[in-house]
Amino acid sequence: MIEPAIPENDDQRSLEIERLGLIYSPAEDRFDRITRLAKTHFGVPIVLISMVYKDVQWFKSAQGLHTCETSRSVSFCGHAILQDGPLIVENPLEDDRFKDNPLVLGQPKVRFYAGIPLRSPSGFMLGTLCLIDHKSRRFDESNIEELRDFAALVEAEFFYRLLSDEQNTLIKENEDLKRKAMLDGLSGMWNKRAIEELLTREVSLSYREQRPLSVLVLDIDHFKQINDTYGHPAGDETLKQVAQRMKAMLRVSDVVGRLGGDEFLVLLPNANEADGKLVADRLLKRISDSPVTSGEYRIQVTLSIGVTTCTVKGGVMSAQQILERADRSLYEAKNRGRNCSVANFELL
Ligand code: GH3
Ligand code: MG
Repeated sequence: MIEPAIPENDDQRSLEIERLGLIYSPAEDRFDRITRLAKTHFGVPIVLISMVYKDVQWFKSAQGLHTCETSRSVSFCGHAILQDGPLIVENPLEDDRFKDNPLVLGQPKVRFYAGIPLRSPSGFMLGTLCLIDHKSRRFDESNIEELRDFAALVEAEFFYRLLSDEQNTLIKENEDLKRKAMLDGLSGMWNKRAIEELLTREVSLSYREQRPLSVLVLDIDHFKQINDTYGHPAGDETLKQVAQRMKAMLRVSDVVGRLGGDEFLVLLPNANEADGKLVADRLLKRISDSPVTSGEYRIQVTLSIGVTTCTVKGGVMSAQQILERADRSLYEAKNRGRNCSVANFELL
């Protein structure tokens, strides 16, 4: 195996990745929808937007892979950013750089790699958009052109910062390691610690600015059965796809996190009770409308949702009280037969 060389401007590259909010920040639908489309278009099992950052490659978006980083020394993308054009490896077993690479010999058993380097607006190579397959494949000029088009869509997104102010503040305030510890490794969303911190911030902001805040607690129905029927990896894929569908439906200013297991939290700044209930019901419909696919399985999923809205008029509540209220509404939704939402249960 040959380790990728470190370019001379590596420190500046890493700074640029930080500046653009592309490292240890929550997964965003604007990137996930590109990787989802590329996965279907090329018919490959894995598509990644990989940031080559310090001594790791970290995935800003990952389809078909349940890990969020690997070391840079074993990365294919580390090689790809050293060149201007695409890096196509039709069979790594026949390539001295990769034939004994742990990502080839072990999981995820890379047998094909196609990566296009991604440039920042000011010209730094940040990482790649790449396709991976478990079997060797041919990739001709027209395929490369198509992948370039997908990569251009990713690069266009680098011009924008679309997370809400509170989320950007949380990202800016913390160092790499701390930020990494605030993300859920499976879904790429904020984890319990971070989403509770964001809830506290959003609550005080909404009281200060005298605007409502709706909080949704969502729990997958009979998730244990999904694990038992289709296996744990399919359960993981279900969690990931449910998370992506939720994000795709919400506004960029909304905040999404995983509380743990099959439970998620959504914060809707500026949403009154009617808005909160409307969003909850749209989420229910979006999740139950079509099954989640994992390999050959098609998995029908439903959610139950508890909604709580806090307003200045309703009296000041702490983040903890809001969570407890939303939980009671969720419990009531489960009692009512699941696949439904209940808003402000104790107030009914
Ligand atoms: P209910 O409708 O009442 O919610 O039923 P349920 O089966 O979904 O019950 P519950 O929410 O208590 O079950 C959560 C299950 O999620 C239990 C646990 O085995 C599973 N789980 C927790 N974390 C993970 C994970 O990261 N991956 C997978 N595949 N399963 C997980
Ligand atoms: Mg559940």
